[in-house]
Amino acid sequence: MKDQITIIGGGIGGLSAGIALQRLGFQVKIYEKRLDHSTEGAGIVLGANALKSLNYLGVGEKIQQAGYGLNECHILSENGKNLTLLHYKDSTIQNYTMILRSQLSRILTETLQPGTIVYGKKLVDLSQHREGIDLFFEDGNHTQTEYLIGADGIFSTVRRKFLPYKQLRFAGYTCWRGVVENCPDHIPRRFTETWGTKGRVGIVPLKDQKIFWYALKNCQQDDPELKKWTIKDIIYNFMDYHDPIPQLLERTKEHHIIHHDIYDLDPIFQYVFGRVVLLGDAAHATTPNMGQGAGQAIEDALYLSLCLKDSNHIESAFMEYEKQRLHRTRKVVQDSWVLGKVAQLDIPLLCSIRNSMIKLAPNSFHQNRLKNLFEIDTEL
Ligand SMILES: Cc1cc2nc3c(=O)[nH]c(=O)nc-3n(C[C@H](O)[C@H](O)[C@H](O)COP(=O)(O)OP(=O)(O)OC[C@H]3O[C@@H](n4cnc5c(N)ncnc54)[C@H](O)[C@@H]3O)c2cc1C
Repeated sequence: MKDQITIIGGGIGGLSAGIALQRLGFQVKIYEKRLDHSTEGAGIVLGANALKSLNYLGVGEKIQQAGYGLNECHILSENGKNLTLLHYKDSTIQNYTMILRSQLSRILTETLQPGTIVYGKKLVDLSQHREGIDLFFEDGNHTQTEYLIGADGIFSTVRRKFLPYKQLRFAGYTCWRGVVENCPDHIPRRFTETWGTKGRVGIVPLKDQKIFWYALKNCQQDDPELKKWTIKDIIYNFMDYHDPIPQLLERTKEHHIIHHDIYDLDPIFQYVFGRVVLLGDAAHATTPNMGQGAGQAIEDALYLSLCLKDSNHIESAFMEYEKQRLHRTRKVVQDSWVLGKVAQLDIPLLCSIRNSMIKLAPNSFHQNRLKNLFEIDTEL
């Protein structure tokens, strides 16, 4: 049996890392603050890079079966006109896999060895010494581990221990998400994102007659008015947008809506602190504009496992992981931030200039961007 590695956080990144490490023979424990496996969240889009990483972890097929696959994402104007098409033509696997977050989480959880996850364990502090790390939980218990992965999301307790002054950035917009069940067949199963002066709306088909939508609107941080918005307010805001946006919003049940302001983590320069490594949103939380947050967390798990596979020294493998991941994840965070600023323009004149420029962009521009995002090596 190899060394003991503890993971804080049983989200998409922590679960993927757990699977990857167990495949290498490590003793893995995951401590999760939620009381059980149920997760908040609507749907999620996984790019080809995420699917390729999941294939490597041995779960790609199950996720494809539970999800809905498409190769194209249409960017539209608010009256439904095509602005551009995101379709990476050279991909050997599906470009976009859309799945309910709860299903993705369930498949990952079930792939772990039984008893790996301990629920109801919120980490509140840690202390690193020469032989290992002491972990302290909210319930008053503590434990020790040889190595630690901080996969505890954007508000990471592990990261704050090492980088206490690092702040999150408010992106300038808020997001509502919902899932519509029993969608009639006349609503097209297309993956679209609509950019308009009153905000942005994404439509994402899922399996079993479900459709997931997200809507983003510019606002002040913690805007008290928007916090009170019900589905009626969202419908009113987007009522002039093209079909099927108003119809889908009207079919959404109020209690199915999730609302969050959007933040990211201004890129950091270090993911490894001795025996401790950061992974997923804890290391590089990004705005959702490129649909890459979970994808990068899953990629982290893949690369951590590739670095550990051929190394007898775990801390050196952690350093190699940091080297492999820093540049790529920082670029995703920065590109996604800029894309968000462009997509969220709400001044009519600027929107119309932006729309004209997007239409003029050569296809090779999008192909190169998607190639850089979707093509990953599963060998070092
Ligand atoms: C609106 C929105 C839409 C998005 N859409 C997409 C998309 O389409 N595609 C995509 O790839 N990404 C998307 N993302 C990003 C994606 O959700 C995240 O990047 C991804 O969930 C990160 O996984 P993670 O495991 O690092 O963190 P999380 O999923 O946040 O998991 C962290 C886990 O740690 C637990 N935890 C936290 N603190 C503690 C503690 N102190 N002790 C113990 N446990 C703790 C939490 O309960 C949680 O289970 C979106 C994000 C947002 C906000």
